[in-house]
Amino acid sequence: MLVKNVRFYSDNKLHDIYVEEGIIQCIDCKGKKDDLVFEGRGRLLLPPFVNPHSHLGYALTLNYGRKNRSGTLQEGAMITRNEISPKISEDDVVSRLKKLEKLFFINGVLYVRTHEILSLVLKVIKARKEISLINLQIVAFPSPGFFYSDNSIDLTEIALNEGAEVVGLIPNWEPTKDLGAESVKIAFDLAEKYGKMIDGHIDENDDPASRFVEYVAYEALKRNLGDRTTISHMTASHSYSSDYFYKLVNLMNLAKVNVISNPVVSTHLQGRYDSYPKRRGLARIKEMMSRGINVGLGTDNIGDPIYPLGDGNMLRVLQEAFLIDHFTSEDIEGMLKLITYNSAKIMKLKDYGIKENKKAEFVVLNAKSEYEALRNILPPALVVSGKNFAQNEIEFRINDKDVTDEVENLIEY
Ligand SMILES: [Zn+2]
Repeated sequence: MLVKNVRFYSDNKLHDIYVEEGIIQCIDCKGKKDDLVFEGRGRLLLPPFVNPHSHLGYALTLNYGRKNRSGTLQEGAMITRNEISPKISEDDVVSRLKKLEKLFFINGVLYVRTHEILSLVLKVIKARKEISLINLQIVAFPSPGFFYSDNSIDLTEIALNEGAEVVGLIPNWEPTKDLGAESVKIAFDLAEKYGKMIDGHIDENDDPASRFVEYVAYEALKRNLGDRTTISHMTASHSYSSDYFYKLVNLMNLAKVNVISNPVVSTHLQGRYDSYPKRRGLARIKEMMSRGINVGLGTDNIGDPIYPLGDGNMLRVLQEAFLIDHFTSEDIEGMLKLITYNSAKIMKLKDYGIKENKKAEFVVLNAKSEYEALRNILPPALVVSGKNFAQNEIEFRINDKDVTDEVENLIEY
């Protein structure tokens, strides 16, 4: 395949890429011909999108149980755990995963991390062998916590032995604050014992008194495991005093922990116990980034009782972050890193990026600039992963006149 005239996100210059047998043979090499030519027309090319936070084991199960009438995370999780999870067979996981990998693939998402509750995690580990379009990293997620049943730790260890790459936790849902603190130590002990990463649902609420990020960050600092540690959600930080928040950010910086925010689903779930005015309930993405913390963005739930909508469009997720966390036009440059490089670092992806003699993995957007990508949030024109590729070159016509470039790229930015 010859991909012509694409603008690299890394250097903002136009290049050609020649791919053979799924490998990038050369960039800007002369005289290459191929039956398959993709005319980039100056569109933006970057490494694949990375979605570091999802729940695929019960994604697309919206109709498997009763509706979530309150819209809260609590009710959604209860329906999922009690009504839906017992109905899910291995075959069912496989058939939904096969739909989801296609959804992610056409959206250019080639790397996904999924948090799986203990009743589903082994089924998802098995089902992962049946998919090939995306790379899946699995978190053994002991929801609602380690201390609600006698065998949660054992089941987590089994999942880690069977191939889960990440230890999950949810300290703010444990029965007491002390047990929440203890759950943090348990998760770190397991991560050390099995050589795994850690990614917890931490302070996913609107409670300013929910302060488990500090336990996680301190534990990571003490054990020197910050680069393997991720704090997901942290929505309570929206409700912290700035005095406390900046003290916490200093600790997080010392520990070098990562953060994942899921702006679409958090906006749906948080503020549900508020009357008007309702809080936004989103981690302070922009403030943490400005203090040097590595932040990535995830989709979280897709089509389940916790979030009934959702798709694999990471640009939509990015635009929501822009909107809800009050980014400005001055902040746009570099924002695509939140759904690419930053999340690749969180997932510890080796070989991420576009290089000669390496597996071809990239997306060409239906946009010529980072600004237009964030503004128009169209799915990619081309997605390449080795020998697999998806094309979705969008064409807009008015009275048979091609107006694609005019509507796709409104402003030179
Ligand atoms: Zn989640």
